[in-house]
Amino acid sequence: MNITEDNNKRLKDIQKIEGISDKDMAVLLKPVRINRSTLSIKGKKYPAWRILYNEALGPGKGGIRFHPGVNEDEVKSLAFWMTLKNSLADIPYGGAKGGVAFNPKVASKAELEEVSRKFIDVFYKVLGQDKDIPAPDVYTDGQIMSWMLDEFEKKTGRHEPGMITGKPVELGGIALRGDATAQGGYLVTKKMAAAFLAGKKNVKVAVQGFGNAGLFMAQKLHKDGFKVVAVSDSKGGIYQVTGLNIPSLIAFKKAGHPVGDFSSGKQITNAELLELSVDILVLAALENQITKQNAENIKANYLIELANGPITYDADRILAKNKKIVVPDILANSGGVIVSYFEWAQNRTGQILDEDYLRKLLEKKMKDNWQRMYDLWKEKKEKVTLRQAAYILAVTKVIVAEKLRGRIKG
Ligand code: NAD
Repeated sequence: MNITEDNNKRLKDIQKIEGISDKDMAVLLKPVRINRSTLSIKGKKYPAWRILYNEALGPGKGGIRFHPGVNEDEVKSLAFWMTLKNSLADIPYGGAKGGVAFNPKVASKAELEEVSRKFIDVFYKVLGQDKDIPAPDVYTDGQIMSWMLDEFEKKTGRHEPGMITGKPVELGGIALRGDATAQGGYLVTKKMAAAFLAGKKNVKVAVQGFGNAGLFMAQKLHKDGFKVVAVSDSKGGIYQVTGLNIPSLIAFKKAGHPVGDFSSGKQITNAELLELSVDILVLAALENQITKQNAENIKANYLIELANGPITYDADRILAKNKKIVVPDILANSGGVIVSYFEWAQNRTGQILDEDYLRKLLEKKMKDNWQRMYDLWKEKKEKVTLRQAAYILAVTKVIVAEKLRGRIKG
């Protein structure tokens, strides 16, 4: 499945709805720069990428993914979504992303460190606090960010903590970053529930993916009284119609067990989880999970894209036809990059900001950004999807910035 083709189709639809010229839209059709390399480690070769998609609004910003399935089309698409996400979030960043086709789950700690340092060795010249700023993504974490920062500083001979975010607090990170993506997703889910599910009791939720995004999301929803009936990880899922004991399940997962082995509940596959009869389906794993093959079978009326790109273009159309409401990735999972921006700003100014203040700022940003998207959706008489409303806001801002810079003439 080619994700770039899907993204281009989405842009074409926006172009038609808003009457955007080909010349204006051209700036969003391809990345500014693709850096490719191969990391050679102990006779093994791992393809690696850092892609800067657009930098009209500021330096590139986006995570680094370690996963055996990583490929150029995926990294390019993730960098494209970062461009729109940062634009919609109103933070001064362009969009970028990195990835290594490598499976950290079967690697030793020493190998993991070597891959992390090698990534910086080959790409450090295009990175930096004013150029392009990485962060964690799937199967990368604060330890990996620490090795990367250390390698970058060794190469450049100076301290520059703002070159990477998602760092442990000891190296200039902020504690809030840990669950920020889920916190942002939770806040927009509350806004969505207030708009569409007001007064409904016992709202049933299924969560696909139980990592940084999915685990904290399940925890927050459970704590707030949502009934989380199913969760899954890469090995499969667990379903309990009366609601799962999420704190016990988190302890079980943290002890190193797959969620499917949890003692109370029925084992299900990831495919089955997606088609459960629930109110809200949270997608927090990988892209292309809902496609034209399974979109007709989706029973949840509300879908939250905590993962990037979990729904294909064709599936989007089927879901829209069936009146399903999808809260798009570029809004739903933007909490992580918003808090990364706080971290970067602190690193750059040397000023330490109060965590409670930052927590409130994140909340305000998420709610305001939801509202702008929702208001535009209403203004368009609900004839577009929420994703299209979000894309219109994000795309327009990038084009305006390109024009102000004089890069689009006329
Ligand atoms: P993670 O590595 O912490 O966790 C990934 C989870 O997905 C794991 O539980 C894994 O078992 C599960 N998984 C992997 N393949 C799966 C499959 N085929 N089916 C079901 N589950 C599967 O990663 P994360 O940070 O939670 O990222 C998840 C998604 O959220 C990605 O799309 C990522 O780009 C997006 N995201 C993450 C952040 C962040 O700050 N972590 C920010 C924005 C977006």
